[in-house]
Amino acid sequence: MDAAHSNICLRSDTSERLILSIISRSWPKAQNITKAVQSSQAHHTSRAPDYLITAAVVLSSGCCHISRCLTPRTCGTCQLRGDVARYWASLLSIGPRKFENRISVVGALGRSHIVDESSKEAAVVDPAEPEKVLEAAKQHGVLLKLVLTTHHHRDHAGGNDKIKQLVPGIKVYGGSIDNVKGCTDKVENGDKLHLGAHVNILCLHTPCHTNGHISYYVTSKEEEDPAVFTGDTLFIAGCGKFFEGTAEQMYQSLCVTLGSLPKPTQVYCGHEYTVKNLQFALTVEPENVKIQQKLTWAQHQRQAGLPTIPSTIVEELETNPFMRVDMPELQARVGCQSPVEALQEIRQRKDNWRG
Ligand SMILES: [Zn+2]
Ligand SMILES: [Zn+2]
Repeated sequence: MDAAHSNICLRSDTSERLILSIISRSWPKAQNITKAVQSSQAHHTSRAPDYLITAAVVLSSGCCHISRCLTPRTCGTCQLRGDVARYWASLLSIGPRKFENRISVVGALGRSHIVDESSKEAAVVDPAEPEKVLEAAKQHGVLLKLVLTTHHHRDHAGGNDKIKQLVPGIKVYGGSIDNVKGCTDKVENGDKLHLGAHVNILCLHTPCHTNGHISYYVTSKEEEDPAVFTGDTLFIAGCGKFFEGTAEQMYQSLCVTLGSLPKPTQVYCGHEYTVKNLQFALTVEPENVKIQQKLTWAQHQRQAGLPTIPSTIVEELETNPFMRVDMPELQARVGCQSPVEALQEIRQRKDNWRG
């Protein structure tokens, strides 16, 4: 479908939220709609944020199975992957009531904020660009209460001092041995934090990329909708460099601590490196069909200007070579005899890989 026939009209309402009104409801496939929306953007002087457009696409895709789409499968009707539909839906609050700890991604860096819908209180992970985060919080009508810092690197902790100035009284959490800039409250492995009335946050020490790196495991009070914010320890289909630790530590962080979280846990990481990581993963396991499929999907997402985050723990166990080192076949393939040795070897290959 070309732009001239896309029948899409953008307008601004009084609350300045852009509303996408879709006149035609006859588009059979979500991919076509995404393309049509993209090409139609060229016809409008003011460009709507991508996430509003894509969320509106979900609304208008004619799929009456939105609630059924919200499983990590591709919906047969609109061909949206469940987690993508869920993400889009959550941005417009059209999902079922379950989304009490609604999670949405702010900006292109994949940095995220977590919202307790009942109290409208929010936590933000690694707000390296505080102004953007505050703007997003304003748009969503939420109150920023907590900063969750994964580690001390500037692209993660560099905005802490600024956000403290902008939001007086905000609490800034960070690993007790990570020397996080602007930290007001140090956390240890196993510490529990709360957001609003319904969101629990468990601190998981996941060292190696940095010594005191913390991942944050978030659930609703009923232990539903689990999500984990993994900073630079676990990337989608990859892991962070071993700047301050050993392969043993990374094995413990990735394969034991994060690998034993519930399989449907959504994974939000610190950087959008997915396509490169999957290309590398194929050099380790060329015939792994799940990796091949996810690479095709990830390339499609990026071409459409969409994120590949979140993933899930189960998808990582299927496609992330660093999380698959327990498999003797994988160890043999890289000429190693133990998981830790294989992890070290794969990391070294990745460091030298010019893909
Ligand atoms: Zn880092
Ligand atoms: Zn980083």
